[in-house]
Amino acid sequence: MRFSFRYTLGHMVKRILVTGGAGFLGSHLCDRLVSMGHDVVCLDNLFTSQKSNIEHLLGQKNFEFVRHDITEPIMLEVDEIFNLACPAAPGHYQYNPIKTMKTSVLGAINVLGLAKRVRAKIFHASTSEVYGDPDVHPQPESYRGNVNPIGPRACYDEGKRAAETLFFDYHRQNKVNIRVVRIFNTYGPRMHPYDGRVVSNFIRQALAGEPITIYGAGTQTRSFCYVDDLLDGFLALMNAPDDLPGPVNIGNPVEFTIRELAEMTVELCGGSSPIINAKPLPADDPLQRCPDITLAQTRLGWAPRVQLREGLARTIAYFRSIDLAKFRAPTPNF
Ligand code: NAD
Ligand code: UDP
Repeated sequence: MRFSFRYTLGHMVKRILVTGGAGFLGSHLCDRLVSMGHDVVCLDNLFTSQKSNIEHLLGQKNFEFVRHDITEPIMLEVDEIFNLACPAAPGHYQYNPIKTMKTSVLGAINVLGLAKRVRAKIFHASTSEVYGDPDVHPQPESYRGNVNPIGPRACYDEGKRAAETLFFDYHRQNKVNIRVVRIFNTYGPRMHPYDGRVVSNFIRQALAGEPITIYGAGTQTRSFCYVDDLLDGFLALMNAPDDLPGPVNIGNPVEFTIRELAEMTVELCGGSSPIINAKPLPADDPLQRCPDITLAQTRLGWAPRVQLREGLARTIAYFRSIDLAKFRAPTPNF
């Protein structure tokens, strides 16, 4: 595993809580931490995930699954916390927007309270959505964003912004040792096939020979980071000196239009799906998004390595290997 030597040689075995640990990113993080020998508690309410993501870990003696909703407090004795619990796909977080806001805000209060009580270092998965529909491009951490506070994406964007505020207030007021990462669009194996996100939708459609559904003109851009690269960034930030609480952008700075992504997906899947303009651009859908990763490069020595073509091929191989009938769409929004 790349970079693993930096984190495995001479490290202490820690008790680590991963909230949202059964999800797409959380399950990969649990894999890494378990393989490094840490004692991992995976907490999840399985709203947007299923146990199959962590099935292979269930028998391991240094892994434990706790079904819990992070909007409720929990008492655990841990050394580190990774807070990932939150629906992440637009269809998922808009399904029950009030619950999404509660998960971000009450969830942050509960994990920060826990971190304060047991003096644990705590990492928070924030998002490029804090920049909204950006008028600065690419987006550095110093950019304060352009978010509509009352639109359909606000439950997620503003929830994540409020969570960042809570993290920095607990840091200033209670000296909690925090790490905040702003994640840009990430993809890879174990994305939920029915999450409605662009990569999973396009691959599922291309493999089934169905039309590829572009929203709007397809000229809006995103920058796609492969999950392994993202996790290298997570661990580098968590193990960085304490004077770097963040926020730190982690993402791949190579930008693609959604149409380019559709064309590449069809090509790699080897099908002949037509690419159609399925519906107008959803409200507040950002027109462009690309991280400025100077801070991660200079302070963490981190940069992504996996190019979109290679990462997409790996993700397509995963989608070919799964039985879609075993996946329940968590919400009707896809
Ligand atoms: P995911 O939906 O696969 O994982 C989220 C996990 O959190 C799921 O397992 C879900 O069941 C769990 N969860 C949701 N609400 C919960 C609650 N109230 N209590 C306990 N568990 C709960 O999404 P993901 O892509 O793995 O995202 C993980 C984190 O990273 C999220 O916080 C998300 O906002 C952030 N993020 C992801 C991306 C991305 O591109 N994947 C981009 C930006 C930020
Ligand atoms: N999108 C699309 N077709 C789809 C799903 C999404 O054109 O089937 C677009 C969506 O409107 C957005 C971009 O792809 O402009 C990325 O959407 P996604 O839901 O993956 O994440 P976002 O970055 O918007 O949170």
